[in-house]
Amino acid sequence: MQKTIVAATGNAHKLKEIRAILSDWNIISQREAGFHGEVEETGATFGENALIKAKAVCEATGLPALADDSGLCVEALGGAPGVFSARYSGGGDADNRKLLLKNLQGKAREAYFASAVALVFPDGETFTAEGKTHGRILFEETGENGFGYDSLFFSDDLNKSFGEAAEEEKNGVSHRGRALLSLAESLRGKI
Ligand code: IMP
Repeated sequence: MQKTIVAATGNAHKLKEIRAILSDWNIISQREAGFHGEVEETGATFGENALIKAKAVCEATGLPALADDSGLCVEALGGAPGVFSARYSGGGDADNRKLLLKNLQGKAREAYFASAVALVFPDGETFTAEGKTHGRILFEETGENGFGYDSLFFSDDLNKSFGEAAEEEKNGVSHRGRALLSLAESLRGKI
């Protein structure tokens, strides 16, 4: 019998990707686990925020909880939007993409997505991993798949934007895919 793990995220896109990447794990949403709160991301790094979210949801539900904290880091912007990726413009994803294009005018466009994942068990045992994927920011949105900054991110691995990539293609090279596979590797045989 597989252990049930709660995905500590309110983001439906992330949940879908986590389930597809860890397809042989039994992953339920935080809502299904009875968690309806919002966890404040007060950490300075992706790793700190992933731990904050996983711990909060594990404590509230009594179940092992898995969190991803992730974002886009643009070298010419000193790593911004980084941990503030979701809150970059103060609006939604479309406003964030618009602001990114504006702030990148005349600047170099190399960028990477980073993901930190944390899995916290009720007895306090904790596993963490990180993943990155490199590319550059396009001058206009390309493709309609994915979420967040996907339509602006041209992947070095795929030679196309994440917005144009099929879900399996993106998951095969993405920051989240890499972080979760590395986490699964360190947990082999334990769940
Ligand atoms: P978090 O919920 O604080 O981890 O925020 C993550 C934010 O980073 C998302 O809202 C997106 O703006 C961005 N992001 C993270 N991963 C991805 C991805 O795979 N594609 C596109 N945008 C992403």
